[in-house]
Amino acid sequence: MLSFWEKQHFIHYDYIIVGGGIVGLSTAASLLSLRPDAAVLVLERGLFPTGASTKNAGFACFGSLTEILADIKKIGEDAAGALIEQRWQGLQQLQQRLGPQRMGLQALGGYELLTTANESAIEQLEPINQLLKSLFGTNIFSLKKSLITAFGFSKEIVTQLVYNDKEAQVDTGLLMRHLWRYVQEKGATLLTGAQVENIEENDQAILLHVTSSATQETICFSAERAALCTNAFTKKLLPDISLQPGRGQVLITTPVKDLPFQGTFHMEEGFFYFRNVGNRVLFGGGRHLDYAAETTTDFNVTEKIINALEDRLSNIILPNKEYKIAQQWAGIMAFNAARKPLLKALTSRLLIGTCLNGMGIAIGSSLGDRLAKLLLDSQPYSYKYNAELN
Ligand SMILES: Cc1cc2nc3c(=O)[nH]c(=O)nc-3n(C[C@H](O)[C@H](O)[C@H](O)COP(=O)(O)OP(=O)(O)OC[C@H]3O[C@@H](n4cnc5c(N)ncnc54)[C@H](O)[C@@H]3O)c2cc1C
Repeated sequence: MLSFWEKQHFIHYDYIIVGGGIVGLSTAASLLSLRPDAAVLVLERGLFPTGASTKNAGFACFGSLTEILADIKKIGEDAAGALIEQRWQGLQQLQQRLGPQRMGLQALGGYELLTTANESAIEQLEPINQLLKSLFGTNIFSLKKSLITAFGFSKEIVTQLVYNDKEAQVDTGLLMRHLWRYVQEKGATLLTGAQVENIEENDQAILLHVTSSATQETICFSAERAALCTNAFTKKLLPDISLQPGRGQVLITTPVKDLPFQGTFHMEEGFFYFRNVGNRVLFGGGRHLDYAAETTTDFNVTEKIINALEDRLSNIILPNKEYKIAQQWAGIMAFNAARKPLLKALTSRLLIGTCLNGMGIAIGSSLGDRLAKLLLDSQPYSYKYNAELN
């Protein structure tokens, strides 16, 4: 049973954010920048964020050449261009918020490895540079074929390298720890081990139910408004929501002597990605090799995907190098057909901001900012119910 004091000081807030990943924390950060006196609660079910934001590869990226071409095919040039702009804005916002050191930012540039199967993409390099010129003011992509040998990649398989000097890498764990701390310093209350099990609404407030692991009683937090930032796990609360989970599996090697490359690297429309972490190599992806099995919220790794990663690592990325696999893990992303985040008012008090389609470092801050502005919007959302707000 709650005490008088607990009821007075732990239960009622102006705004509650469900989910302590990059979107939830960015929403809290933007809310408190816009309204520093607001009482903001973040409810996170894990002991720390437990979805994608602490498990990702740390690419501060906005799309490789073949990934952008694939997006244009799926959603058209205007929508793909708008998405790149949101990603780029998000990256700037994140840097302004934390500064480069607290996110472990290293501006080493990004590359895409092309093979005979997809090297025809370079015919589209100039049109894509033109498309992005108004955003970046310069040509984004250029060819760096000569580096294939210097980087030690298989020359039999890799036929072209596309370079992008605006891409960078971050230290994912450092970034999230600092974002967590930033939000606390701004005055938010962050509770972990707090899984929201259901949501209700009445005339006065929105009510979020959490079972206390200490007493097994259901605690009902209340707020003026709430935002769901629960990414791939949203379906547990809203089974009809239109998004699919997608597992991302990753491995990291032991230190590699004289590792010949640094930076972030993409292959096959971004379905494979690798980077150096000091002198180790982090390599992930391969979800497209088994879509059915990888459409899951299960955090286990599988032999099929890890074998595919190991095979490419030894044959394409690190041929003739000695290393071992030091660690493997998986994180869970959320995808939809529109390829853009889902930003929606579900009721007059409940918003959802989720589904970052695998590029949340870039877009998480801008989505959080838009969510915060909507939470603060003094107009009732009635005219927007169930309308996408993107
Ligand atoms: C392996 C991998 C590699 C990736 N690499 C990159 C990359 O290099 N660059 C990039 O930009 N993006 C990358 N991504 C994608 C990026 O990590 C995600 O897009 C982003 O982290 C999503 O952030 P989020 O806050 O929406 O979701 P999450 O980080 O999943 O946060 C959602 C949070 O909600 C919590 N939650 C869920 N349900 C409840 C509930 N009922 N009650 C309370 N809490 C709840 C979860 O525990 C979780 O912490 C990668 C993802 C993976 C998995």
